[in-house]
Order: sequence, then structure tokens, then C-alpha cells
Amino acid sequence: MSRILYEDNWLSVADPAEADALIVNTCGFIVPAKKEAINAILELSDFKQPQGKACHLVVTGCLSQRYAAEIRDQLPEVDAVLGTADYGKIATLLRRLAGGEACYDMPGQPGSLAHLMVSRRPSTPASYAYIKIAEGCSNRCAYCAIPSIRGPLRSRPMEEIVEEAARLAADGYGELILIAQDTGRYGLDLYGRRRLPELLLAICKIKDLRLLRVLYTYSDGITDELLDVMRREPKIAHYLDMPIQHGSDAVLERMNRKDRAADIRATVARIRAALPDVVLRTTVMVGFPGETAEDFEAMLDLLRDMRFDRLGCFVFSPEEGTPAWSMRPRVHHKTAAQREKRLLASQQLIATEKARERIGQVVAVTLESVEDRGIFYVGRSYGEAPEVDPLIYVAAASDDLHLGQTCNVRLADADAYEMTGVTVL
Ligand code: SF4
Repeated sequence: MSRILYEDNWLSVADPAEADALIVNTCGFIVPAKKEAINAILELSDFKQPQGKACHLVVTGCLSQRYAAEIRDQLPEVDAVLGTADYGKIATLLRRLAGGEACYDMPGQPGSLAHLMVSRRPSTPASYAYIKIAEGCSNRCAYCAIPSIRGPLRSRPMEEIVEEAARLAADGYGELILIAQDTGRYGLDLYGRRRLPELLLAICKIKDLRLLRVLYTYSDGITDELLDVMRREPKIAHYLDMPIQHGSDAVLERMNRKDRAADIRATVARIRAALPDVVLRTTVMVGFPGETAEDFEAMLDLLRDMRFDRLGCFVFSPEEGTPAWSMRPRVHHKTAAQREKRLLASQQLIATEKARERIGQVVAVTLESVEDRGIFYVGRSYGEAPEVDPLIYVAAASDDLHLGQTCNVRLADADAYEMTGVTVL
């Protein structure tokens, strides 16, 4: 959207009071995300008509795909919505609104990939950019509304992704991050087989690329072929984000997940055997309907054994239209919150130990912000994905460092939330 608007001569402004149009790009797959999106809409609606200036408020993304009629009926401040496959229409929509047209169209079924095909203008800092390699999901996890919001898996053609990657790398985005709902399934719909390893090899040939990272790979997609490519190709980060969701077989079955605890253990062992320096991230859920104290203990045991470097935890959110919506018994929200707290406390110890194991290592760190110019910078190595993982605070051993630079840093201290290091000359 940002690229399309830029090409249509719209400029982004920092102060919403100066805007002629306000766009809230929403997430809408669980209750906390919906609340956050609605708060953002309400906050921005205050800026719609400062000093009588007309300004339009547009809601895009998953919330508007899922709840377009409710937004129209309950949020009269909103002038128009766009669904998840309609991003390409944003400039036309704003022009129609500016021309005084009423354009409250209901989003169609998600099906098109057109919104991924435009050459994007990344909204990330200059050192990295995301590339979405597929849209939608054909896994049917019982708690998840994403397949109904975003449609079934649709992979983008490999040549198109490689072309986008080359363009971004040439524009100075040294780190590219491949995302999809489940990157491991890339190609299954379009080519009849998983083609993530081939895609990685093709992108790694791009001369200007420094680091390639893949996120959200479900364990059945972490094949030996993928691990072999990751081991052989120096540009690929030894980093995997493998959401496991639970550690109890009974809960995994009710969640309609393909893996059981033994599969998860085997996959983690295979990954670590292939990539001894891998940094592993996962996501789990507490409070799924029917989760007993024993199920929860089974998950804790699995996590203690697997010792993931990083972990995100969600509390189950009942979503209309999913099989889990009607599953009973629901876990009391206080019990779920206590379990989340216990799980995060246990993980904090593991994450601290794992981080401290890295002390003394020399890693390539890209500097992304500055705390104190010439003295202290903040950056990431292959082991830290943006926005979710700890940052590395870098003490400069020389005063000629600059943002965007990648330098060798000896890690000197670490805890679960941050690491510090000194540049090695
Ligand atoms: S794989 Fe992810 S996006 Fe797909 S249904 Fe399961 S949780 Fe949802």
C-alpha cells in the first residue's frame, strides 16, 4: 500500500492532524489484536475533522476482511474498508473518497495474490525487508481463523520472488526475511511439492544480499533437504522459528496439529545435529479447551527438554467460525493466566542460560540504531529476528562506525532480554 500511495503522489505525515486520509491496517485473528485495532481506529477518528478539514478514515487488513459489516454498523467514523486481497485498490479508493463518493464496498473472498505482486516500498528500517512468499493457509488448526480470513495457501511464482529479492537487495536491504503463514509449505499448491530449499538457493545467488532469514516454518516443512541447504549456504541465518503450539499429545490432537510431542523432539534433535549453532524460536498456547493440569505439565516438560532459545506464548482466544469455538470445557481465564505466567518464568531461566552460552562468541552484528553516537549502538546478529528477539548493545571500539554497518562483535554479557558486546577490530 505504501508503494502504491507513494507512486500516486501521497506523502506520509507523522502528525495525523495533518493527514488528508488515515489508514489503519489491522490484525484481527485473536481478541487482543482486535481490541488493539479498534483502539487505533477510535484514536485516529479524533483526527478526522480538525478545524473543519475533511479527512477520510479507511480500515484495511484482517479485521475489515472478517468484520466489514460490523465495522460499517458500529463504527460510523470509518469511511471505507478494504479486505486482505484488496490492498492494490488503496489509491483508487482514496481518490474516490476525496471526490466525495461513498465507497463502502464489502470485501470479496480472499483469493487473489495481486496485493503481493506490486513492487513494495518496505516500511522497515534500511537494513532489512520482509518478502511474503505465499498467502493463506491450508492447515486447519482448530483454533485459527486465518484460513477463513486469508484463504487457502497460494504460493507466489519463484521467479517473481527472486526478482523482488534482487530489487530489494540492490536498494540496500542487506537482510531479507521470508514470511508466509507456513513457509515450509511454499510451492505445494503451485508446483505440487515443497520448494523452499530451491527458493533459498536461488535468492542466495543475489550478489548484494548479506543475510537471508526464514520465519514461521512448521516442523513438517523442516526437511533434511532444507537443513542441508541452510548448512551449506553461508548467507542463510542459522535461525528457525518453528511454532509447536503445545507439548501434550491430547491437546495437539484436539488442535488438529500434525505433530505429536515425539515428532517435535525428533525435529529439534535433527535441526541441532545439522546446525549446531542454530537459534530456535517457538510459539505455544496455554488454556486451549480441555487443557488439564497434566497437559500443561507435559508442555512444560517438553519445553524444559527442548530448551528453545526464544519463546512466545499466547493465551487461547475463542474465535467464531473455528472448531475450537465450540469446544468444551473452556479453561478459566485465571487458570490460563497463571499457566502463562509459570511457563514464561520457566522459559526466562532457559533463555538466560541459552543467551549466556553465547558469551565469548564473535558474531557479525548489523547496527540499526544508535544509543550514543561513537560509543553505543544497537543491532542484531543472525540469531535475532527483528521486533521479537533481544537486541545486542554494542560498545564501539573505534569511532568510525555507522548505522547499517555490519561489524564483528564479541558478546560480553547476556540475559533473556538483551546482550552486550564490544566490536572486534
Ligand atoms: S498453520 Fe498457522 S495460519 Fe495455518 S491454520 Fe495453523 S495456526 Fe493458522
